[in-house]
Amino acid sequence: MSKITDKVRSYAEVIHRIKNLKKHSNSFAIIKLGEICCLQGSYDMFCIQVGTPANPKTKRIFLSAGIHGDEPAGVEAILTFLEYFHEYEVLFEGVAATILPCDNPFGYERNTRENADGLDLNQQFQNQDSIQEIRLIKKAIGRSSFDMALAFHEDVEGEGFYLWERKCTTLKSIGELVVQRVAQDYPIERKAQIEGFPNRQGVISLDKRYLEKGWTQEYYLFRHGTKYCFTLESPVNMLFQKRVEMHLLALRTSLQLLHQHWQ
Ligand SMILES: [Zn+2]
Repeated sequence: MSKITDKVRSYAEVIHRIKNLKKHSNSFAIIKLGEICCLQGSYDMFCIQVGTPANPKTKRIFLSAGIHGDEPAGVEAILTFLEYFHEYEVLFEGVAATILPCDNPFGYERNTRENADGLDLNQQFQNQDSIQEIRLIKKAIGRSSFDMALAFHEDVEGEGFYLWERKCTTLKSIGELVVQRVAQDYPIERKAQIEGFPNRQGVISLDKRYLEKGWTQEYYLFRHGTKYCFTLESPVNMLFQKRVEMHLLALRTSLQLLHQHWQ
């Protein structure tokens, strides 16, 4: 991977990279979901489909980044992963993916958590179809339920990587395995509590805490039948490249676990 920096952020550059993805793999379908309009301008929203859910055995995954505009490492991780797709391709055998690289373009360009209307989009998934970004994200999700959803976030106070895990109660927890792999190369967040939730060696379980984090994207996906929902968090205080690498390693490990656990 070439050196990655968090240079001046431009959503036009994100779109340029999305439109160039066809050069990297012919497995991609690039779909324009629609346009977000605000006083400051308009932003085209795209989703990328990889593979098709050809039969009931196909595993379905959902990836999403940048719903908080001041958490850019996830956006970069998704774009980098797609540009280096040949390194991940073997993990996509029998997998169909729906990928949203940047959920909040306005916030991404301005380094704000919220969108142009001052809304934290990750609290708006309960019947808020009047919000443009939410409507387009829900359009990408459609009626799908996924085997696994990964939402890429960052923590401004974080000192290491951690994740939130929500899953069907009948399934085995695998969040710990993802964190253990990341821990081999990167620091893990060891604070006893994060936002009032107990942190167990980098894993916060949301299994019995249905609405305590509000109507987040992962909660919406869970309510619509997604089996494993992970919210991945990298620490903003670390170098940008390291944060991107943490997300990529978590993504790779999650895909490997997907194959190992669901033969
Ligand atoms: Zn976030």
